[in-house]
Amino acid sequence: MSVRVIVIDPQGDVHLHLYVQELIKNDAGTFKRTIDELLFQVSKATMMRYSSRVKDALRTNSNDIYAASSKGVEILLRILHGQNPTVGVDISGVWHAIVFRTENYFSPTILNDWYAGWYKLQPIEQNFREWIRTKPEDQNWNPRCFLFPSWHLNDAVAFLEVTHFLVYNVARYISEERPIKAQDKYRLDNQVIQQLNAARGRLRSIAFNILFNPMERILATKKSCCESAAGDYHRALVETGSWPWERLGNSTPMNTLLKQLGDFSYQALGETCGRCRLDYEDVVEACIHETNIYFDGLCLDCMDASNPKTESSDRDYWKHSTMSKGEFLTGCRVKLHGEATWYHSFMGRREDFDRLRQEAKTENARELGQGSQTQPRRNRKENTQPNRRAKYQHGGTEYRDKGEPKWHLKKKDTEKSKSDESYARIMAACGLSA
Ligand SMILES: [Zn+2]
Ligand SMILES: [Zn+2]
Repeated sequence: MSVRVIVIDPQGDVHLHLYVQELIKNDAGTFKRTIDELLFQVSKATMMRYSSRVKDALRTNSNDIYAASSKGVEILLRILHGQNPTVGVDISGVWHAIVFRTENYFSPTILNDWYAGWYKLQPIEQNFREWIRTKPEDQNWNPRCFLFPSWHLNDAVAFLEVTHFLVYNVARYISEERPIKAQDKYRLDNQVIQQLNAARGRLRSIAFNILFNPMERILATKKSCCESAAGDYHRALVETGSWPWERLGNSTPMNTLLKQLGDFSYQALGETCGRCRLDYEDVVEACIHETNIYFDGLCLDCMDASNPKTESSDRDYWKHSTMSKGEFLTGCRVKLHGEATWYHSFMGRREDFDRLRQEAKTENARELGQGSQTQPRRNRKENTQPNRRAKYQHGGTEYRDKGEPKWHLKKKDTEKSKSDESYARIMAACGLSA
C-alpha cells in the first residue's frame, strides 16, 4: 500500500509516520485498529522544540505518531511550522488538534492564537442559526461543539459569543457536545453549564416579571374597565404566540418568544380608569428590550478572576472577600459586557457571590435614589430586534484591544447607569413613576 505524503515543510528532513487508529470494542476487549497511514514531511528541529514526547521518539529514531484523525495532526504541524491553516478546517478538526496536542505534550497554548484567528473568519451566527433550524447529522455547526474549544483555547470573544447564542437560541437545557469521539476529560467544568442554564432561566423571569407587571396593577381593583383590560391584555399576549410565558418558555428559544412578542398589538380604548389606562405596547416593548440586553454571554476573564487561585481554599476565601466589583470589570478582554455577564461568570464560592451581588444592589439603589425621571420613549421598531449582534462587530478589534473596558467607561461617562435607565423605562411603561 502506498502511503500518502503531506508536505508540511519542503525542506523538511524527517517524515513522521502517522497511524490513524480507531478504537474497537468487542467481546475480545478494547483495542486500536489502524485504518489509515500518512507521512508528514517536517523539520526535525521544529518538532523537537515543541513536544517532549515527539522529541523522545525522534531521539530513538522512531518516527511513528498515532491519532484518531489526520485532520488535527495536519493543523498542529502546520502551526508549528509557522503556517496558518484555515481553509477546510472545521470544529471537529479543532477538537482533533486539541486532543493530539494534549496527548503528545505540545505547548499548552500553541493553538490559542491560531484558534482566535480561525474563529474570526467563520460565519458563526449564520451557520449556527442554520444548524439550529435544520439539525443536520453533521455536528460541525452545532454551537454546543464550540463551547469546549473556545474555553480551553482561552478565546474570550468566541466564548462570549457562543454562550450568548446558546442562552438566547436554545429551547431546552443547554449542554455541550463533542463532534468527535474523545475521552471524557475533554469537557467544561460543570459549573459553566450550570451558570449558562441559570442565565437562561433568569431571562425567562425578567421577561415574565415585566409582562405581568400591568396585571398586578389592574387586578388590584374590581372595576369592570380594569377586568376587561386584564382580559384583553392577556388575549393580545396569547395572540402573539408567546403566552403563557412560563409554559412556552420551557420549550421555545428566548429569541423566538421575543420576536413573536414584537407582533403584540393592544391599546386600552373606551372607558378606562387611572389603573388600566396604560400603554400596554410600551410594556411589551420594554420587556423585549430589557430581555435582549440582559445577558452578553460568559466572560472568560471574569470567570478566571473568580476561580480558585491558590492551593489553599482559606486563602482563596479571603482573596475573594477583598475583591471589589471593580476588580472584575477591569482587564476583561471583551470590552462591552454588562453586570449580568459578570454575575453569571462568577465561578467562585456562593457566599462570595451573594455578598458581591448585595454590594452591587446597594450601589444601584444609591444611584437610583439620586433621582431618575422617566426616559424618552424609544423608537418601537428599534426595540423589537430580537438580538443585539450588530453591537458586537463579530470578532472585531473592538473586543480584543487591551485597555479600559468600554462598558466601564460608558458607565462612568454617563450620569445614569444601565440598570438606572432600564428601571426607569420599565416603570414608565407600566405607568409608575421611577
Ligand atoms: Zn380600569
Ligand atoms: Zn469580564
